[in-house]
Amino acid sequence: MISEQMPENRTVVGRFAPSPTGPLHLGSLVAAVGSYVMAKRAGGLWLLRMEDLDTPRVVPGMADDMFRTLESLGFAWDGDVMWQSRRAEAYGSALERLLSARNAYPCGCSRAEIARAASAPHDGEGEVPYPNICRNGLPAGKEPRSYRVKVGAEPIVVHDLIMGEKRYDLARICGDFVVKRADGLFAYQLAVVVDDADQGVTQVVRGADLLSSTPRQILLQRLLGYETPAYAHLPLVTAPGGGKLSKRDNAVSLAAGRDLAADGGRLILAALRFLGQRPPASIAGAAGREILAWGAAHFDLSLVPTASAPLSA
Ligand code: GLU
Repeated sequence: MISEQMPENRTVVGRFAPSPTGPLHLGSLVAAVGSYVMAKRAGGLWLLRMEDLDTPRVVPGMADDMFRTLESLGFAWDGDVMWQSRRAEAYGSALERLLSARNAYPCGCSRAEIARAASAPHDGEGEVPYPNICRNGLPAGKEPRSYRVKVGAEPIVVHDLIMGEKRYDLARICGDFVVKRADGLFAYQLAVVVDDADQGVTQVVRGADLLSSTPRQILLQRLLGYETPAYAHLPLVTAPGGGKLSKRDNAVSLAAGRDLAADGGRLILAALRFLGQRPPASIAGAAGREILAWGAAHFDLSLVPTASAPLSA
């Protein structure tokens, strides 16, 4: 039984882990502010990780753009930035461990084959649970394409500090899921788990769009013998009229049409208010760095709402 409680008096380590596949937007701002103030409120560290794992989708120059944006807003991160693109060796050795413990296996199925084979009803959001074709060995004539981790029948319970307790039956949602893709890239789920463990992350604070990834990450942590960090999934920022904010939508880029150095304080303030906090009117007009310091001193987790909403800034 792996405890999900952090030992007391351990330094809290939080992180912000953007993917440089599109500009930082209002949802990223909330994730950055939320993860920062929660780590700093606990006297902890706030690390930055560049999730440039999916190299074909990485936009050249975007990581630098993100550093500049974060700095103009008044953020300062602790230690060196971790780059996922430089960590293939660490992911490879985690995969080796899963394979040698028979918790993962090579899979020779294409997407089309899986869709054809899976006729059972399923719960996932458009996801088809893997029908276990290669689970007990590659059938004759199949070549390994990807690698999958074995999902057990036991549901995984996520204790989220904001969203509460959620139970996930991974076998019905996704089944054995991919940890190394057919294009040779390691999957996000594996990379995040290995990185969070290697960076000593004790607290994962991010948007609620990633809540459904959390049970997969908890399963991988258990199989790899890592501790499970505390999780806090923040309400999602919707487009002004409701509906999904998209990273691809340049209209919601934080930097678009704004002088971030001048507007940083206002943006950070708007993010804190979005998170249910009540900063005093007297700090309106202060620089981003100062508003973040207010958040680090006063952030109250019990005030954070669970519902998605637009953010006006
Ligand atoms: N890189 C992911 C994103 O930008 C976040 C991953 C995480 O926080 O675990 O959506």
